[in-house]
Amino acid sequence: IAHAAQDKELLVATDTAFVPFEFKQDGKYTGFDIELWDAIAKEAGLKYSLRPMDFNGIIPGLQTRNIDAALAGITIRDDRKKVIDFSDPYYESGLAILVNNDNANIKSAKDLEGKNVAVKIGTATVDYLKANVPNAKLKLFPNIDNAFLELATGRVDAVVHDTPNLQYFAKTGGQGKVKVVGSLKSGDFYGIGFPKDSELVPVVNKALKTIQDNGTYDALYTKWFGEKA
Ligand code: GLN
Repeated sequence: IAHAAQDKELLVATDTAFVPFEFKQDGKYTGFDIELWDAIAKEAGLKYSLRPMDFNGIIPGLQTRNIDAALAGITIRDDRKKVIDFSDPYYESGLAILVNNDNANIKSAKDLEGKNVAVKIGTATVDYLKANVPNAKLKLFPNIDNAFLELATGRVDAVVHDTPNLQYFAKTGGQGKVKVVGSLKSGDFYGIGFPKDSELVPVVNKALKTIQDNGTYDALYTKWFGEKA
């Protein structure tokens, strides 16, 4: 079925660095979100170009309609639903704590009280910590790579961020020096973001459903996260 969205090249935002959902490898963006979107776009006949940007700019970019869609492991939340639209949920996530291997003191949210904690600006983590660990000293970074660096050099005690990101980083970029401790939260879901009332939402949901039913989604999931537990 033809629809107006198929006629133009869509501008699709993604985060600059959020392993393994979107990250730069050999000069190109790759990851679960990138490949999921590519499969959706092929299924729905959408043309697009990717626009990586700091997470902090993505929801405002959708609100002003400067971008047509965004994949950045965006947590679906009621407050965000007031300003942007979401696709159906496509990934279940949560929040966790990353510390250096030799840290034996931090295991749960309450252990973060009074500690220096690196977080990414504009993310659900910031709101979570402000509400639940009010005495944590937050150090805010636009890009999580800088937060990881801050942990490596010992300028912060912990990084708090999305669980799958920390797990992947600990396995790959962490060089065996960091560990994921204490799950703070589970039951968050990621959705693809759109400007309010975008005509793309039903088109993308239909394509997402198709690739979930035909095994494409499962193949991507296994590729990036391993077999589902
Ligand atoms: N899931 C987090 C949020 O929506 C951010 C994920 C990311 O850093 N890209 O706030």
